[in-house]
Amino acid sequence: MPLKCYDRLSGQVALVTGANSGIGKGVAIALGSEGAKVVINYVADEEAAQEVVHAIKEAGSDAIAIKADVSKEDQVKAMFKEAIKELGTVDILVNNAGMQRDCSFADMTLKDWQFVLDVNLTGQFLCAREAVREFLKRGIKPEISCSAGKIICMSSVHEVIPWAGHVNYAASKGGVMLMMKSIAQELGPKSIRVNSIAPGAIKTPINTSAWETPEAEKELLKLIPYKRVGDPMDVGRLAVFLASDESEYIHGTTLFIDGGMTLYPGFTTNG
Ligand code: NAD
Repeated sequence: MPLKCYDRLSGQVALVTGANSGIGKGVAIALGSEGAKVVINYVADEEAAQEVVHAIKEAGSDAIAIKADVSKEDQVKAMFKEAIKELGTVDILVNNAGMQRDCSFADMTLKDWQFVLDVNLTGQFLCAREAVREFLKRGIKPEISCSAGKIICMSSVHEVIPWAGHVNYAASKGGVMLMMKSIAQELGPKSIRVNSIAPGAIKTPINTSAWETPEAEKELLKLIPYKRVGDPMDVGRLAVFLASDESEYIHGTTLFIDGGMTLYPGFTTNG
């Protein structure tokens, strides 16, 4: 059944990186279902990207797919140029693309470290910079939004929870936190709104092994006081709120969406 199109974001263009899978896909469909035209960025699997385009068109809005590796400056610039040519501007950036390359610290190669930092942190910098350049050029269109533009960075509970065996990933998300806050401090006066979403455990291909068997899911639920693993649409709904003027006064902060994973659940029976 097609999703119904509401209009909290009508007239706006959103660009979602890594939008052909998992959380990015959920966010793109949620934004599209609220009337935004959506650029579906992907780096591999064009068919999956076209499926998201189709789902958004079914919901009554418009979407296009653009291939780009977010860690490559020339590809990011070309993606924004094409998005602006095709859809007129970009009002909302969801910096979602990310990956893991897990390894014990002593065995982690410089390549594993660099690759994760390049995609998860530098990729967010490159996309945010292009978005900000477009926001500054266009300025506010009051009939569309109170803000000149909105940036939502996909962080993680691991911007605050250390993660053994994932040093590169945790460092990239810690970096996203202060990058987001610094951009927010610098560009708030230009009415550019910048925030992060920090998911806990959401069922996507990035963490299949953590929930695909009942035993694994039971183990995972020990970390989640609310006793449910998240769904990409949980994050999609939050992204819609953060992209819309309903959240106009929320700026430079991280909203955790984690079923309580950041509540130190290990202390539940330890008082
Ligand atoms: P996923 O693997 O389903 O999606 C990641 C997406 O990023 C894919 O579409 C992938 O192709 C894309 N991507 C990877 N490298 C890219 C590149 N160089 N250029 C463009 N796209 C690239 O995983 P997910 O769980 O949906 O992850 C999405 C984001 O959410 C990531 O930033 C991840 O760190 C974050 N996150 C996920 C969880 C979770 O539990 N799933 C928790 C916290 C944070």
